[in-house]
Amino acid sequence: MRADLHVHSSASDGTDPPAEVMRRAALVGLDVVALTDHDTVAGLPEARAVAGPVTLLPGMELSCRSAGRSMHMLTYLFDPGQPELGAELARIRDDRVLRARAMVDKLADLGVDIGWEQVAAIAGEAVVGRPHIARAMAASGAIASPREAFTRDWIADGGRAYVDRYALDPARAIGLIRAAGGVAVLAHPRAGRDTWVTDEQITRLAAAGLAGVEVFHPDQSDAERVRLLALASDLSLVATGGSDDHGSLTDYRLGCETTPAEAYQDLLSRRPG
Ligand SMILES: [Zn+2]
Ligand SMILES: [Zn+2]
Repeated sequence: MRADLHVHSSASDGTDPPAEVMRRAALVGLDVVALTDHDTVAGLPEARAVAGPVTLLPGMELSCRSAGRSMHMLTYLFDPGQPELGAELARIRDDRVLRARAMVDKLADLGVDIGWEQVAAIAGEAVVGRPHIARAMAASGAIASPREAFTRDWIADGGRAYVDRYALDPARAIGLIRAAGGVAVLAHPRAGRDTWVTDEQITRLAAAGLAGVEVFHPDQSDAERVRLLALASDLSLVATGGSDDHGSLTDYRLGCETTPAEAYQDLLSRRPG
């Protein structure tokens, strides 16, 4: 069984519509795909409507922050209509717009005049994010490709035009997700400097009800995977995997990392109640 538990669509910052993601999942032979757009479940109805051989695991990647560092929480099988969770998601999404506008203003101060309208047009119905700004920057000729926006010169974390935003405390996020009947998995804890999560932090999150940790991720080295597997075993966390595919933004890598069948079943069994 092949299960890719970390995939984005154009409902957040991926380039492909949810239905196209489902078609691609079938083409690469996946049995299960989790749609995990940033802070939104807006892509799920379209993905669900695609009949085919691939099972859709409904999910989301929730923006969290701890000790000044961003942390991403993959969440699955929760009820998005749960009021407290719904209110937090609305707050995160509203703040994303304010923050994107502030970054556009900062870019203008740096001589890159992309205009908010262009960013909004690129985002369309999606939850606006930095990739949309990056695409507007590339379209304006300020940079050669969207990827070049993610440096300290521009809009990488701590970059000249970067603006921080509202995010949830990860332990609180786990509580909200569990209260909504779902399970939480810490995304890519060792993918890079900006999202580095320590063993101690993961231990605390495990005590707060974390169900799993994403071990198999394209940006995590073999050495870190080995360390994370040992930690997951010590803390009785499920070790998951996913491609973090964002369509053309990440060169269509759907299915390049997967979650083992036993781990997938273990994750499903950890739903509260
Ligand atoms: Zn992430
Ligand atoms: Zn992601």
